[in-house]
This record gives sequence, structure tokens and C-alpha cells, in this order.
Amino acid sequence: MSAYHIAMSKILFVTSEIYPLIKTGGLADVSASLPRALQKLGAEVRIVMPAYHDALLKTTSRTSISRFNLEGNKVSIIESRLASSEVKIWLIDYPQYFERPGNPYLSQEGIQWTDNAHRFSFFAKAVVEIAMGRVGLGWTPNIVHCNDWQSGLAPALLSFEIRPPATVFTIHNLAYQGLFGYSVFKQLNLPPQFWHYKALEFHNQVSFIKGGLVYADRCNTVSPTYAQEIQSSEFGFGLESLLTYRKDRLNGILNGIDTETWNPKTDKYIPQNFNSTTLPTKVANKSALQQELNLPRSTNDPLLASIGRLVPQKGIDLLFEALPQLVKMPLQIVFLGSGEKKYERSLSNWARKYPKRICFRQGYDETLSHRIEAGADIFLMPSLFEPCGLNQMYSQRYGTVPIVRRVGGLADTVIDTNKKTIASGKATGIIFELPTGNALLHAVSQAVKLYQNKKYWEQIQLAGMQRDFSWRKSAKQYSKIYELALEDAVRKIRFKSKFINAQTAAHTKTKSGYR
Ligand code: ADP
Repeated sequence: MSAYHIAMSKILFVTSEIYPLIKTGGLADVSASLPRALQKLGAEVRIVMPAYHDALLKTTSRTSISRFNLEGNKVSIIESRLASSEVKIWLIDYPQYFERPGNPYLSQEGIQWTDNAHRFSFFAKAVVEIAMGRVGLGWTPNIVHCNDWQSGLAPALLSFEIRPPATVFTIHNLAYQGLFGYSVFKQLNLPPQFWHYKALEFHNQVSFIKGGLVYADRCNTVSPTYAQEIQSSEFGFGLESLLTYRKDRLNGILNGIDTETWNPKTDKYIPQNFNSTTLPTKVANKSALQQELNLPRSTNDPLLASIGRLVPQKGIDLLFEALPQLVKMPLQIVFLGSGEKKYERSLSNWARKYPKRICFRQGYDETLSHRIEAGADIFLMPSLFEPCGLNQMYSQRYGTVPIVRRVGGLADTVIDTNKKTIASGKATGIIFELPTGNALLHAVSQAVKLYQNKKYWEQIQLAGMQRDFSWRKSAKQYSKIYELALEDAVRKIRFKSKFINAQTAAHTKTKSGYR
């Protein structure tokens, strides 16, 4: 039996976003919560992220703890701390690449920074220096946990080291792969053998995500269903064969949620706190939200909500297909989000045309998202694919019944309402299958009908509120993956040493004239 214990782990958690320092999506939430939960289990965790302009502004304490040279460039590491925790954050300070305000990947015009490949290859190289203990910090990890394409090159580069730490790579969204042309690849000063289809080359481009998928000791996605789905051509974005090849080393671990920030009993952003024993008071949040959004204050009709990035992934097109029918139904809908301009324009038009039924708040608004979760009755997540998804979990905690498509993490976190689950008291939401406006419409009609049956509705709300979406559960599963990665890494090191010993022996023999 293995003697591994998570308390023996020194984990370098590599990420391009951490809430609240910088956030574009769920990765930021994971990067704030998982390291904290791992530390609580006894591991020693350091998070490493680029020192973006906005992130530096938001840090409360910061000290420069290391200066080193990377390919002739002076880099420093600034140490900060994850709010109300002992987890240290190490920010890679290289102003030429990271001292830019706003979104970490896009310019103000909403287009990719042209030097993204250089920025995140530089970041990965800095991570390798830290991981190999070459920056004078007196700390070396035994596990390097990378996330998404921005840190994908780190496991690939570490594989060139003689005794590297174990590497784990988490796929938060396979749709974003970090693809760049050959001319860019040549500028990155990477090992030339990376340009091979078994390495990082992908349809004549360099794929940063392949660095993680090919080279990490273990990979995982953020839900078990998504781990299966990405092995198919429907969800694999061309990487399905590689992922199937690595399926013995690919797991799915559900994200947890920050149960302190997302707790209706203590949430400081909502007008009326409540819990499962005071659920009827939730309605005060609905009235307040309707007032805030200039929607008529009706309690009889359900208030539906949608929060998220306005991109095709989130099933926005299904919503647009369903909207002509939805506006004829006895309900209201609030949308909060930003993203593709055509979606923003269409939603503004719908809201202008049906001001009593539809409200659209364009932008990113953390506190409003809490008031929406607390005030809405039903939450819409008709995603085409969804690696995990967080809002369906927040919704269940806030007694807001989710309507989701049966994909990825949505399938893993919502229990569909049917005769059996109603009878057992397990139903927590409504799941539909087909990616069509009609299927969504059908699910909404079912929900609107159920909403009128107060007994069953409350039962569904309460079942959702009682579910355990804590990070502790997920962190324990990660510790298992780390253990497996460490075993794999040790095997690889043994193999490498044998190879090196054999080479040295051959060399010695030649020198002494044996051959
Ligand atoms: P993804 O990472 O694909 O964007 P997730 O559901 O995993 O989707 O995470 C998105 C996170 O960002 C959630 O915490 C969600 O509440 C938040 N979010 C997205 N858009 C907005 C917005 N416009 N305002 C406030 N929060 C938002």
C-alpha cells in the first residue's frame, strides 16, 4: 500500500487567473478555492501567475522575493497572499509582457494580444525555473499543477529536466487551445522536437494545450462527464484521439464552489438573507431585484435568469430561438453578461421591445450576480458544452431551480425532475437533451408548470440547497491524482536514469577501448 499523504505534498499551482485579482471565467474561481482547500488538507501550496497590471493593483501586500535571468531578461517574483489564507501567490513580474491593464488575453478592442504566444511561453519557462528550484527561493515542489493552455508548455518543458517534479494538467475548457503558426513557434526558442504531431504540432500550428495533454503525468477535466465527452469528435476539437490514447491517465473531478462567498445565509450582497428553514423569505430578494431592474413587481410569475459569457458555447443561440415564444409566456427573464457584440445588440433589442418581460444588463457585475441568484426563481444554462459550470451550483444553493442541458458538469451536478426523483425527493432541476430552441422551450414550460405547484417546487428548491458542492470533496480527489502522478513521475525518472546509466557505460567502454 502506498504511504503517500497529501500533507507531504508541495504543490506549485500554475494559473493565468485568480479571483479576485483577475478573472475572465471559472478558472479564476478554481484557482482561488482549490489551493485553499488543498492547504487545509495539509499540503503546502504556492500559486504562480503573471504579474498583470490589474492584479498588482489589487494585491494588498507584496514583496519582491527573487530576481533571476530568463533568456537574458531580468524577471522578478513578487509574493502576495490569497485573501484570508496562508496560501502564497508568486507573481511573475516582467512588465514588457504583463504590465497591461484589463483582460489578461485581449486588448481593449477585444482582440488577442499579438504576442500571447511569447507571453505565455515566457511564463511557462519562468515556472520551470521555479519548479526546478533555480530561482533562489529554497522551495521546490514535488507536484506542478498546470491549468489550461496558458500553462501548457510547462509540463512539456519540464519533461526535458533530469529529475522533474510530477506534473498534473487540468483542462478547464478544451475550446481554448493556444494555437499559433510555425513562424511564431520559431520565435519562441522551444526545443525543435516539439514540432512533431506526437508533440506540440497540431495541423501545422503549435498547440500550447498539447504541452499539458501529451506531457503531463496526469490530466483531468473539471467534471467526469466532460472527461468522457472530449474523447469523442463532437466535443474533442480534433484532440479526441490523443485524449482517448491517454484515457488511462485522464480523470474528471468536479469543481466545488466557494461556499462562503456563495451562501444565502450570510451573503452580504443580497437584501434578504435566508436558508432552507427560512426559504419563504427568498421572495423579498425577488421583489428587490425586480425593482432594481425596473421589471413589474409580480410574485406569481417566475423570474428566469441567465448569467455568463455571451458566446456560442453557452447556448445563447438556443435562447434566441426560444425567445419569440418565451415572451408570450407568463414569466420575466433577466440576462447579465458580456461577450460577442452581436449577442449584446440582440439582447438590448429584445429588452427594449419587451421592457416588462426582459431585462439585459450588459457587463460583468459580481454583486448583481449574487442578487440575481438570490432573487430569481429559475436559472437558465442551455450550454452546447460545459466543462463544469458554476452558476448551476450557485443556483441550487440559493433555491433557484436550474434548467440545464445534459452535457458536461451540468449533467453531473443537476438531478432531473421526473416521477422517480420527485418521489424520492432528489430532484434539483430540469434537464433537457437536444441543442434546440424547442427542447429548451419545452423545459421552460415544464418548469413554469411546476412552479405553480408550490409543494413540489419547494421540495426541488430544498433538495438543491442541501447538496454538498464544497471544495473539500474535490480536493480529496485531487490528492489521489497527485499520488498517481507522483508514482508515474518516479517510474519515468527510473527509466531516464537507466537510459543515462546505459549511455554513460557505453561511453566509458568506448573511451577505454572496449569497442
Ligand atoms: P466559464 O468559465 O465558461 O465562463 P463558469 O460557469 O465555469 O463559466 O464560470 C463563470 C463564472 O463567471 C461564474 O462565477 C459566473 O457567475 C461568473 N460570471 C460570468 N459572467 C458574469 C457577469 N457578466 N457578471 C458576473 N459574473 C459573471
